Amino acid sequence: MAVSVLRLGHRAFRDKRVSTHVALVARAFGASNLYYTGDHDSELEKSVDKITTAWGGPFKIEHVKGYTKFIQNFDGEKIHLTMYGLPYEKETKKLNKKDKLIIVGGQKVPWDVYEIVDKNIAVTSQPHSEIAALAVFLEHTSDKPKFKNAQQHIIPKEKGKEVVKNG
Ligand code: SAM
Repeated sequence: MAVSVLRLGHRAFRDKRVSTHVALVARAFGASNLYYTGDHDSELEKSVDKITTAWGGPFKIEHVKGYTKFIQNFDGEKIHLTMYGLPYEKETKKLNKKDKLIIVGGQKVPWDVYEIVDKNIAVTSQPHSEIAALAVFLEHTSDKPKFKNAQQHIIPKEKGKEVVKNG
């Protein structure tokens, strides 16, 4: 099962850090693609590609012009993360084995998104953040990723830091 993330409404001047973190969480927790709407931002793409080059992939970031057709044409289960949705604890048990498109918002999410997806799922019914919602959701639903072609990897340690260059 492949997992992709769609981040809605990126604003190049205000959202660079949050969108970068959405991408990093998506990659670290097993998604293979981050699609985003809003401003096309080559700096965002470069910084995400740099992480993928250093720490491994496959992971692609790609701008898409509009969300409606993109969501409708996605061949798989389309899940919008929103505090107004049904609790993830129950809903994640009902997911099928199809590929997944996980949609997260930024500012106000347009109403039709709630209608064109298969499910609206909440990670608590409280407002928080797209980064946190995505991390919790993927931790509960995705397989642990195996990163390929990394330039380096970490040796986990109780204290200190150890990063080893791959041969
Ligand atoms: N006020 C916005 C709205 O009405 O759509 C939401 C803004 S929130 C800062 C940005 C994104 O974080 C949301 O679009 C949603 O994807 C995610 N999010 C925030 N709280 C959430 C929650 N409790 N469960 C799931 N996703 C959440």
